Amino acid sequence: MKLDILCFGAHPDDVELSCSGTILRQIDLGYKVGIVDLTQGELGTRGSAELRLQEAKKAAEILGISCRDNLGLADGFFRKDRETLLKIITKIRQYQPDIILCNSETDRHIDHGRAGDLIEDASFLSGLRRIETQLEGTLQEVWRPKSIYHYIQDRMQPADLLFDITPYIERKIESIKAFSSQFYDADSTEPETPISGEFFFDFIKSRAMEFGRNINVKYAEGFTVRRTIGSDNLMHLL
Ligand SMILES: [Zn+2]
Repeated sequence: MKLDILCFGAHPDDVELSCSGTILRQIDLGYKVGIVDLTQGELGTRGSAELRLQEAKKAAEILGISCRDNLGLADGFFRKDRETLLKIITKIRQYQPDIILCNSETDRHIDHGRAGDLIEDASFLSGLRRIETQLEGTLQEVWRPKSIYHYIQDRMQPADLLFDITPYIERKIESIKAFSSQFYDADSTEPETPISGEFFFDFIKSRAMEFGRNINVKYAEGFTVRRTIGSDNLMHLL
């Protein structure tokens, strides 16, 4: 199955927190989108790996994505090595995305920056024909995505691209709430974390409002990109 956009997240919920509005809008525009989570988030303070897998499935249904896979890398301990890069290359070649959305290049959680860097390298290496990978015994075609955008998640950064998600903000919040073990639940007896307070959803909305203000829309999501963004129609830019 070929996808238009493939999203990578170090942990299940990174994608929902950071670029689910963009995903919802692109799917409404007719594009096919999928998610690959690198880990099961098994080091998370609240919930469990099994619970987060169920939550990820529920969030995927809310977003209407075409597929969601989990690479099962070690939360907190995955590194940029040959084995890990080959696993990611195999996913890129399997889904042949034109665009990749992935973690920020630097963030509060140490896994995020490492994941962002890994995906950049894997996307480049995926285009080299002398790196051979197989899927179910069949040699894969080489594939290099056109663009890689890093979604801004926790720590604020100047964005290179802002994407209007105004009509999708409530569904974005709904997709985040699918991860009910991680976020505010008045009845939960689990320890509090930096993301489990009731105010956290105010933060999500205010971040989107701050990004939106810069492009004269109500809510937006922000991305950074290593290469310069191009266009062939200035009228399409906000
Ligand atoms: Zn994360």
